[in-house]
Amino acid sequence: MTKTETYAGGCHCGKVRYEVKADLSQTITCNCSMCAKTGAILTFAPAADFKLTSGADALTDYTFNKHVIHHLFCTTCGIRSFGRAMKPDGTDGVAINVRCLDSVDASVLTPFAYDGKSV
Ligand SMILES: [Zn+2]
Repeated sequence: MTKTETYAGGCHCGKVRYEVKADLSQTITCNCSMCAKTGAILTFAPAADFKLTSGADALTDYTFNKHVIHHLFCTTCGIRSFGRAMKPDGTDGVAINVRCLDSVDASVLTPFAYDGKSV
């Protein structure tokens, strides 16, 4: 059963804001070199279910390793509130940092520990 709901979220300073339809019963933590340092809890959504409502000009893009995931940071406050990547089926997807969603208590989530370091 999915529990998809619409959430609003964004960076710390408020320049980057978005709305996304997401299912917070499906979250992960990841131990790759990036996520291990940022401590993000992630959920994934189709790009069509994500709408950047402000801050397109406030984002900077960082890629590493295979450069397939676009880690987007607010240039003012440095928060990585979401990223963009192609999903395995070839469609565009977004990775949402659940900690950046408004009124979501990340401490009650039960994220799956994804072994991104070994991929
Ligand atoms: Zn910001």
